[in-house]
Amino acid sequence: MIRTGEAMAAENIYYIGLDLGCTFLKYALGASDGSLIVKKKTPSRADQAQSVIFEVIFSAIEELMEEAKTRGGKVVAIGLGSPGAVDFKKCRLIGNTPNLQSWGNAEIRKTITGRFGLPIWADNDANVMALAEATQGAAKGYKYVIALTLGTGIGGGILIDGEIYRGINYAGAELGHLSIAYDGHPCNCGGRGCIEQYASAPAMVRNYLDKIKDASEEVTTITIFARAAEGDQSAIETIDETAEYLGAALASIINTFNPEIIVIGGGVADAGEEFLTRIRHAYEGRTMKPALKGLKLVRAKLGNDAGVVGAISLAKKMYEQSQ
Ligand SMILES: [Zn+2]
Repeated sequence: MIRTGEAMAAENIYYIGLDLGCTFLKYALGASDGSLIVKKKTPSRADQAQSVIFEVIFSAIEELMEEAKTRGGKVVAIGLGSPGAVDFKKCRLIGNTPNLQSWGNAEIRKTITGRFGLPIWADNDANVMALAEATQGAAKGYKYVIALTLGTGIGGGILIDGEIYRGINYAGAELGHLSIAYDGHPCNCGGRGCIEQYASAPAMVRNYLDKIKDASEEVTTITIFARAAEGDQSAIETIDETAEYLGAALASIINTFNPEIIVIGGGVADAGEEFLTRIRHAYEGRTMKPALKGLKLVRAKLGNDAGVVGAISLAKKMYEQSQ
């Protein structure tokens, strides 16, 4: 086979993926096919000034550029996933992020491209995770994808025809704030009855503690699933109800988007296949039949790597489009 100049050059192309969180900045070097070569993490120093967080990011980028150089190649683009709403066009934060206080209004592109001269694309972390699963994870090869991350909150990502759906003000795809009860629990978003108030990890714990009438007990979702396996009735009921809540939310999502595949990630999803089966049964009873044809419900595959993998996928996708 004759190797063209273009193919040889592609082998020496690298991407940087950054996943900014409240505790850590995860950072990784990706090959031309988007696969991970090196991955690392460092404290994000989220409690400090914005300039300090940028310094942490600069160091990570410098380290990975050096790594690419020792491999005889060069970094061509950077991707970054961040908490909060991100103006994708300008790659800057819109307003504040509660857990990363000084990060509000951060000028990601201006600051990073200004320093390194490399193109960067930044997006909301839930969108980046959805892209990760669709390019390298459980939804690889699918174009109509819904991703839900069940954790402290509920994050959502929507891919329509392979493209991340962001909405006109980049405030869309907040699937955790889909309401399942119009006069239900108040939510910190200003709404009521948001699925996040019913099926996130803290909501599940609260529901269980209400049932056992002992608010002092130290319980996590792991405890609840373990106790259910031992036959604890309150734990079983809590899990059944969580599945019903998620089923109600997913039925609305399925009727609206008619996805090919739904990916569930986060700690609660680690509970296993049986929990997923319960969720499936719950939405099947509530969804219009044509939208269920061929629909898959799967667990996320990439776990803690989803952020950096997605950031690399974003950098690669946008860089290739810009060429
Ligand atoms: Zn809400």
